[in-house]
Amino acid sequence: MNDWIYRFRGYDPADERRREALCTVGNGYFATRGAWAGSMAGEHHYPGTYLAGYYNRLTDQIDDHVVENESLVNLPDWLPLTVAIDDGEWLTPDDCEVLEHDQEVDLLRGVLTRRFRLRDPLGREIRGVERRFVSMAEPHLAGQTLAVTVVDWEGRLRLGTAVNGAVRNSGVERYRKLGGCHLTDLTATVADGNLLVAGTTSQSRHRIAVGTRTVATHNGSPTAGWTSRTDPESAYTEIVVPVRSGDVVTAEKVAAVHGSRDPGISEPLLATRTALAAAPGFDQLREAHVLAWSHLWRQFSLELEEPFDGTLAAVRLNVFHLLQSVSPHSADTDAGVPARGLHGEAYRGHVFWDELFVFPVLTLRMPALTRALLRYRHRRLPAARDAARQAGYPGAMYPWQSGSDGREASQRLHLNPLSGRWTEDATFRQRHVGLAIAYTMWQYVETTGDLVFLGDYAAEVIVEVARFFAALAEYDEGRDRYLIRAVVGPDEFHTGYPGRPAAGIDNNAYTNVMAVWLFGVAAKALDRLPDWRRTELTETLGLRSEELNHWDELTRRMYVPFHDGVISQFEGYEQLTELNWQHYRADYGDIRRLDRILEAEGRDVTAYQVSKQADVLMLLYLLPRRELHDLMERLSYPLTAETIRATVEYYLARTCHGSSLSAVVHAWGLAMLDPDRALGFLEQALHSDAGDPSRTGTTAEGIHLAAMAGGVDLIQRCFTGLSTTDDVLRFGPHWPSKLGTLRMVLRYRGHRLVAEVSTSGVTLTVDPGPGDAIAVRCFGRTRQLKPGESRTWPARGA
Ligand code: BGC
Repeated sequence: MNDWIYRFRGYDPADERRREALCTVGNGYFATRGAWAGSMAGEHHYPGTYLAGYYNRLTDQIDDHVVENESLVNLPDWLPLTVAIDDGEWLTPDDCEVLEHDQEVDLLRGVLTRRFRLRDPLGREIRGVERRFVSMAEPHLAGQTLAVTVVDWEGRLRLGTAVNGAVRNSGVERYRKLGGCHLTDLTATVADGNLLVAGTTSQSRHRIAVGTRTVATHNGSPTAGWTSRTDPESAYTEIVVPVRSGDVVTAEKVAAVHGSRDPGISEPLLATRTALAAAPGFDQLREAHVLAWSHLWRQFSLELEEPFDGTLAAVRLNVFHLLQSVSPHSADTDAGVPARGLHGEAYRGHVFWDELFVFPVLTLRMPALTRALLRYRHRRLPAARDAARQAGYPGAMYPWQSGSDGREASQRLHLNPLSGRWTEDATFRQRHVGLAIAYTMWQYVETTGDLVFLGDYAAEVIVEVARFFAALAEYDEGRDRYLIRAVVGPDEFHTGYPGRPAAGIDNNAYTNVMAVWLFGVAAKALDRLPDWRRTELTETLGLRSEELNHWDELTRRMYVPFHDGVISQFEGYEQLTELNWQHYRADYGDIRRLDRILEAEGRDVTAYQVSKQADVLMLLYLLPRRELHDLMERLSYPLTAETIRATVEYYLARTCHGSSLSAVVHAWGLAMLDPDRALGFLEQALHSDAGDPSRTGTTAEGIHLAAMAGGVDLIQRCFTGLSTTDDVLRFGPHWPSKLGTLRMVLRYRGHRLVAEVSTSGVTLTVDPGPGDAIAVRCFGRTRQLKPGESRTWPARGA
């Protein structure tokens, strides 16, 4: 098996939308789903093109409520490239007999190829090969070719292409009752033979333009005679070629996309016209694109020798989609890390806390990209401050779902597709998102040593989030502890207690402990600043020494709930009803969305000990054991190994993994306790999108970026025990023999390193070049490694 080729054989309309998501081509600036070129949005197809950071708001009336939704906008479709015979309809696999069909993504080169053989209703056959890519070298350009061979007939072959501006956001069934028309003022023109469609997003007033330039050949010779036309929304062109059996007609197309948020342009339509005029042909464009991908793959090289089946292929697919969602071309987009990539419309392209799972893979290879993406959050600090103030708190309250300007973009009503009912959605109470943002800021600084970033951006965010949580914590005299009430933890099923289901829960252990972690880090972050900057920041923020003292107090007196020797997910979790898991598994099979199942049965998930995803166990994912122990010790909650084991088991038995993130965190929690079960979760995380041919998931609506990256991170950090705290690069592998030998390239403190990890130990090689030695610690032994040096730490007993 070739691990660089991701392939679908045959044509399966019912699976086509999932395949479209997995065959998306993109470059971090824009991406286009792998739809049949020329298909229209419908049951089996959903061509979609999304530009990072292009959001628009629409309002709708649902029952008595006015709801506002912000969505990543589906752009005019540049894909159509199809053929028809004589005066017939455009040929599609839906209207023809499909004699052959396969689709493959060349992950190494970033090219999608579809090969097909179709027979039309009159018995005439064609063979076709379509290729496309979205350029990793030229972020505004894409290339596409179609070669069609005539099989045993003679007549006229019509080749047509278009830019279809008659698009809306309708990719997610559940949202279809809500508005989806985001583009207004559409204009379609043909200029210099090129098709151009421009429009404006209705509320955010972003101008966008999509254009194409197409040339055709007949048996290798250029053909001319295109006829073009436009309607108010779209531009079309076609050419008629008289053909005989064996003739080959090819089209070569270059597409260009621009938007008014682009730096360095005058206006999008002009930029698109200019780009089309200047763009090289398909081959040259492809060459530069392949070169750009080869550089990315060198930086993201992660090889596994003899791992168990499919692991390496999954790693490559996941890294591929990660880099198509965020890449060096994202740096100037002021877009965050969208939970579902640029691959579909689930969650409306919003940014949640998923970057927490994505950055570790990026920072250890392309720190500048993480830095750029973190600025998305810093730019929205004023909005987070405003949200805190409106809620009556100081500091910064980041939104659970973020889009354009950093205001809360979460829905307040949620449609349960099982019952058809709209229910109140209180997941916006996930204040822990701010902790995740502060965590990623600090982790970036720890990994890179980038104290300039700390001073310019990160410290400010960390301090403001800490302030908010300090104010959120109320003192309870009876317990002599601080409590955080009315929030929602990572387990989104529990948005409240039975009887008051949307009012939040109290003392979510994850939130409380991570807040304590943050108070410690905020103080550390200030300490790390040069005096002048600390003074400046303290003055600007009006930070008083009493606040710092109060944070210190909180690191000793925050309340954390426990019951029966385990950490309670939140106060009162243990009093909820136990679910009859056996019954639900037997009745429903797939019980990942128990919230919807129970609601459809007239019950309320908040009444049960059922967690959607890892919640308490997130602590094991984010905090090295030692740090967690120290933190709990300081709170006077000494944590034993037995408490950890019991806590993992307790929640494993009560979690339905309704989020793909759950597998990543469970693998992490189990890596040291039960490596075999950890590997099972690794497999689930790695294959959460591609491994769902049963189509029970929502991959058709976009990939699950955090699970994709998180799966890779399990290999790079969890099983290798890689961490980057206190200016030391550490390894402490619990390496499962089933994973074979790992060889990966890392960037650390300005150096490029190669790490090899297997059951026999760890070898680290630093590329030759300038720079200081780095401190590396493995199996309790620390060494300084200079550029050009290599060192092996044999495993104990190896
Ligand atoms: C999960 C969240 C996640 C979001 C976006 C939800 O299903 O519960 O933790 O951030 O999906 O991926």
